[in-house]
Amino acid sequence: MIQLFMAMALAHFPTGNFTSKPVMAEATLLKSLNIPMVAEDKAANVGVAYVNARQVHEISVASHALGRCGGYEDLELGDQKAMVNPLEELQALSRAVAQEEANRYLKRNIKIDYNAEVAEAVKEVNADNLRETVVFLSSYPDRYNRGPSPNKHIEPMMERIAAVMQNYSHPYELRRIRHESTKQDSIGITLYGNQRPEELVILGGHLDSITQSWTNKIAPGADDNASGSANLLEALRIFAANNQQPQRSIEIFWYGGEESGLLGSAEIAKNYRADNMEVISVMQIDMSLVPGAGKGVIGSIADFTTAWLRDLMLQINDHYVGLEVREFNCGYGCSDHASWFRQGFATFAPFEATMNTINRRIHTSDDVIDDRSDFLHSANFSKIALAYLMHMGNSDIRGF
Ligand SMILES: [Zn+2]
Repeated sequence: MIQLFMAMALAHFPTGNFTSKPVMAEATLLKSLNIPMVAEDKAANVGVAYVNARQVHEISVASHALGRCGGYEDLELGDQKAMVNPLEELQALSRAVAQEEANRYLKRNIKIDYNAEVAEAVKEVNADNLRETVVFLSSYPDRYNRGPSPNKHIEPMMERIAAVMQNYSHPYELRRIRHESTKQDSIGITLYGNQRPEELVILGGHLDSITQSWTNKIAPGADDNASGSANLLEALRIFAANNQQPQRSIEIFWYGGEESGLLGSAEIAKNYRADNMEVISVMQIDMSLVPGAGKGVIGSIADFTTAWLRDLMLQINDHYVGLEVREFNCGYGCSDHASWFRQGFATFAPFEATMNTINRRIHTSDDVIDDRSDFLHSANFSKIALAYLMHMGNSDIRGF
């Protein structure tokens, strides 16, 4: 089915001259598509290649067939370092991957204790709220960053975010983030810390959607990623309703342009690195609605994420959620956490299932709420996010 779809898609592709642009993607994936690389790092299995629009589409379709949301990072703009010296850039990434591989085998050095207040807050997560937000976002089935109306959903979503902040009496800033690499905006909110406001605890997910069909441009993106976007809003709602100012600053991002090469998150992470921001940790939620590996089972992305944070997530799960967590590799550019990881920040990313059991209807007009959607499954991700914000936002825990 997938190959048939690919053939059909390519048949519809206009055959002109396209400007090449650099992307970073999994090396084995680029090889399988016969796309020559200008640089490759075997240890990290990541390559840089100059690709035309048709090849970008091929990468996207092949990634999707492998069960990934994103699949590559677009290096088009503002990434002179990677373009001028891609090998050096890949080697830095490779060193970070090797370091994480080593950390994986270190003894747990970060321990969080059960906290009754967190347990109470986690109970407030409401699956009906998640459904409501997913219905709302799916009603904008054109959240494609290169579509005719890439920002129609931004204002209404910001109104919803503002609404959950109504009873929060401490300093915060809700903002619309414009990008150089895409016309689509991201949304960010900062809840300023009262003890160490310069230390940032970050949570994010992408708000955009895509369809890989040339004939049907409807992309409701209910699972990918209205569900994760709803998870963020629900975690924020409960955090804000408790009305306690965190010790560290908490930032939540609804990224734009993920589906076209992590555009929004890559720009934000790059700016944070350039500005020397003190990012303590980054959590990513991309897809939470379909329990493909079974009820009570979730995945945790094991590559381009950080060992101590994956471990922290397991402790959060043990204390407050009680799921079976299966680690799996997703490849480079799988979702926005890769943007942060590449800039040297610590990340983790729980996932609705495992790579083999991912919802196959994403990136089509059939990514809608249906009988496989499970909002109680999705609620687990808001629980993890909320417990993460409360523990990391109110402690001095940090990685290596
Ligand atoms: Zn996604």
